[in-house]
Amino acid sequence: MDCIFCKIASGEIPSKKIYEDEKILAFYDIEPQAPVHFLVIPKEHIDGADRIDESNSAIVAHVFQKIAEITYELGITQGYRIVSNVGKDGGQSVRHLHFHVLAGRELAWPPG
Ligand code: 5GP
Ligand code: ZN
Repeated sequence: MDCIFCKIASGEIPSKKIYEDEKILAFYDIEPQAPVHFLVIPKEHIDGADRIDESNSAIVAHVFQKIAEITYELGITQGYRIVSNVGKDGGQSVRHLHFHVLAGRELAWPPG
C-alpha cells in the first residue's frame, strides 16, 4: 500500500521522532501549525477515525495515554489540542489514522 504514514512508521521515510513503541509513533509535523505540532499514529494502518471499531479501538486509548505522557515530558503546561481530521469535510489529507497535538499558543475555537 502506498501510504506515507506506513512508510514513516516503518522508517522508510525519515521523521523527527518524539516517542516510539511497538504500537505507535509520535513525530513532529513537517508543516507545523503551532509552536509545538506533532502527530501520533498507530503503526498498524487504519484509514481514519471513521474506521475505529471493536477490533482496533484499544489503540486509541494507548495513543491518548501516551499523549498525556509526551506533553508532560515536553513541558507543556498551558494546555494543548488533540485533533483527528476525518475525510474530505474534516480536512484529512493523509488517509492513515493520526492525531495532531498542537500547543505553544492559544488556539482559536471554533476552528475554521
Ligand atoms: P491531515 O491533513 O490528514 O489531518 O494531516 C496530515 C498532516 O501530515 C499534515 O499536518 C502534514 O503537514 C503532515 N505531513 C504530511 N506529510 C508528512 C511527512 O512526510 N512528514 C511529516 N512529518 N509530516 C507530514
Ligand atoms: Zn498507512
